[in-house]
Amino acid sequence: MKSDLISLMKPSVVAIKQQDIFKFNAKAKSIPGAVNMTVGEPNFPTPDHIKKAAIAAIEENKTHYTVPEGDHELLHAVATYLHDKYDLNYDPESQILATAGVTEGVFSVFNAILQTGDEVLIPSPSFTIYGPDANFNGASPVYLDTSKTGFKMTPEALAEVLRTNPRIKILLLNYPSNPTGASYTKTELEALAEVLKKHDIFVVSDEIYSELTYNFKHVSFGTILPEQTILLNGLSKSHAMTGWRFGVVCGPADVIAQINKIHELATTSITSITQYAALEAYKNGYDDPISMRKEYQARRDVLHKGLKDLGFECPDPDGAFYLFIKIPEGLEQDDVKFANELLQEEHLAILPGSFFGIGGEGHLRLSYAASMDNINACLDKLGDFVKKHSKL
Ligand code: PLP
Repeated sequence: MKSDLISLMKPSVVAIKQQDIFKFNAKAKSIPGAVNMTVGEPNFPTPDHIKKAAIAAIEENKTHYTVPEGDHELLHAVATYLHDKYDLNYDPESQILATAGVTEGVFSVFNAILQTGDEVLIPSPSFTIYGPDANFNGASPVYLDTSKTGFKMTPEALAEVLRTNPRIKILLLNYPSNPTGASYTKTELEALAEVLKKHDIFVVSDEIYSELTYNFKHVSFGTILPEQTILLNGLSKSHAMTGWRFGVVCGPADVIAQINKIHELATTSITSITQYAALEAYKNGYDDPISMRKEYQARRDVLHKGLKDLGFECPDPDGAFYLFIKIPEGLEQDDVKFANELLQEEHLAILPGSFFGIGGEGHLRLSYAASMDNINACLDKLGDFVKKHSKL
């Protein structure tokens, strides 16, 4: 291709850089036998009954376009599931869209709302797509460092940032959090809502890890402040369905109708076969996450204890499948350097916290969507590394 053709392309697209995480993972993959604790997806297969429903859909030729918002039998099943699990009350006929994962959900929501000069408030450290999604839509991310407050945004900090940044149009909430595992209690969410009520802004609440909570029951922001909330959820983490690409966007009917216009332009509709798999998951897969959650919890407990024994300070994570740990004194404090040396010397891949933005410096993210064997190998390798390098 002629190199000058790039100059015809949108600068905001050309400016998007390949994420550091991909580069680090490529390096880890090039080392044979390296233990990888970076993976952000379940290492369980999709439950059999869901796979069978998809196979049946293919055999019954349910392989055509659907309406853009998603098949209505599916939307009804989603509404019932969200009601039964989280007490949410969304009208399936007007308040729910089926999207190609939360990833497409964030993109379509931002695209429908943001204009040049707008700002998106993102508590940080955070999942890596939100900032680039804001930038691409002409807006700027405003990162709020939560590292001094247990990786949670306080109502005081929220009030202050909204007071000083009047162009903020969206607060992006993600809990349980990737990368920190932190989540909010009902009382904490209510305190945030008190502040948010006073402002004309949307809360885009990414609750993709809602089924993976360990310390208390998940409370959806859609029950706390429904009139301002656009809820994102899906099946990737709860039902080990990352490759199927299924998510939902829920919110006030008039807002959802506008987002559906962008979603239709981008997708026409999501894959019909995935929709039949999702229908089965929402109708008959209420209990699927339970055994996976139990297994994650067992792994989390082993990893958490092992890390504490090695001298790492790490809060008891509320949910998701990540531990976000502080590098102890006496060891290399530059997390990128630490992670690269660990990979080089011990063949153990752990992500540097600063890959997840402001507040992540001096931390490391470990995923326990990994086998117990890998968790034990990780603790051995990290133990050896700490012994070799500790200056205390
Ligand atoms: N949101 C968060 C916080 C995530 O960690 C991930 C994946 O790692 C996603 C969204 C992507 O979800 P989906 O597979 O539904 O696009």
